[in-house]
Amino acid sequence: MRAEIIAVGSELLLGQITNTNAKFMSAQLADIGVDVHYQTVVGDNPARLEETIRIAEGRADLIIFSGGLGPTKDDLTKETIARHAGVELESNKQALQSIEAYFERTGRPMTENNKKQALVLKDSVVLENRYGMAPGMAITVNEKTYMLLPGPPHEMEPMFRDEGIPYLQRLSGSKEIIVSTVVKFFGIGEAELEHKVQDLLDSQTNPTIAPLASKDAVTLRITAKAKTAEAAHSLIEPVLSELHNQAGEFIYGINEDTLSSKAASLLISAGLSISAAESLTAGLFTALLAEEPGISASLKGGMTVYDVQAKIEQLGLDRKRIETYGTVSSECAEALAERIREYFHTDIGIGLTGAAGPDTHDGKPAGTVWIGLAFKDRTKSYQLRLSGSRNTNRLRAANFALYYLIR
Ligand code: ATP
Ligand code: MG
Repeated sequence: MRAEIIAVGSELLLGQITNTNAKFMSAQLADIGVDVHYQTVVGDNPARLEETIRIAEGRADLIIFSGGLGPTKDDLTKETIARHAGVELESNKQALQSIEAYFERTGRPMTENNKKQALVLKDSVVLENRYGMAPGMAITVNEKTYMLLPGPPHEMEPMFRDEGIPYLQRLSGSKEIIVSTVVKFFGIGEAELEHKVQDLLDSQTNPTIAPLASKDAVTLRITAKAKTAEAAHSLIEPVLSELHNQAGEFIYGINEDTLSSKAASLLISAGLSISAAESLTAGLFTALLAEEPGISASLKGGMTVYDVQAKIEQLGLDRKRIETYGTVSSECAEALAERIREYFHTDIGIGLTGAAGPDTHDGKPAGTVWIGLAFKDRTKSYQLRLSGSRNTNRLRAANFALYYLIR
């Protein structure tokens, strides 16, 4: 099935909002194996919308619209499609009831144009909107399937995921369902990973394994087709364990896992407490951990010790040793980790120090980072040589610290 997404809204063309709906829809469609060939944006203009529909029909079997289902004059998606496809609009009883109930609940007067929102394309399948008033709908006319969804992402996203996607899966009539698992790697580049698991990538047909671009992780997507979800999962399972054999040290999680969610859940389930002394990251590491619910059971505190004087006076680092080794050194990172662990009485202490860039720091080239990890009475340190911009390096350093915790 070839798909095209048409986002309707002049505010998109004016640069007032970003087309996150197309991004969301495309990702969901990729998950079920529907190929999106085009994403289009058109303003609230019926003539141009109709022209866009005509073009889309020439190159797609499935056309998904977002926006323009509201009650106002500029909301014209339904009307334009109805006219174009020669389908009538009719009031949907259930949609009208839920709109009336909404106005009763909020005590606001219902106006005539609100009734317009209950209009749906005759004979379409109505997709319920649990977070707003305009129902979505889907219909196939002359072998083209049209799916209409509201513009507000908080309405569209659950609706598309919970109703639109299952509808499309049923429609594609395939008795097969598609299940995919995304495996996440850290500490290895995309090219190196592909090289490492090349044989596995080449030899698979079901499931397939393909790199998936992601801004904060190197990932592989394993996609299996089978009669049941269970059967698909059992196809994925052996590939997953083969990936663990070949590159397990770089795997930190799957699907929605992030470095911080993974580190947090490991800390919490092991009942280990943690604190961090941060120089170049200035709190980024603890801020990432603090994103995770329940982390207060483990995260006791942190200290930003940016200046060398602060390291000495606030945390009691040894002046002579710092003068000997410098602040960008394993000695400094380890001392930070040990002192902060003592300061907060935690099981684990993390020390982050380095030259974020763009200039050298303490005689060390930009991107040189040392991470100290003190666990009970053992202390280790790791060196990084990063090559990004200042803030990329800082974020990477904090992420590496999370990664060393997981490993
Ligand atoms: P409403 O009933 O709220 O008018 P609607 O279906 O008519 O919904 P629009 O009027 O086109 O949708 O858009 C409503 C709002 O939804 C926009 O102001 C914008 O904030 C958001 N929105 C619309 N389209 C998109 C999009 N493609 N990506 C992200 N947000 C969008
Ligand atoms: Mg609107």
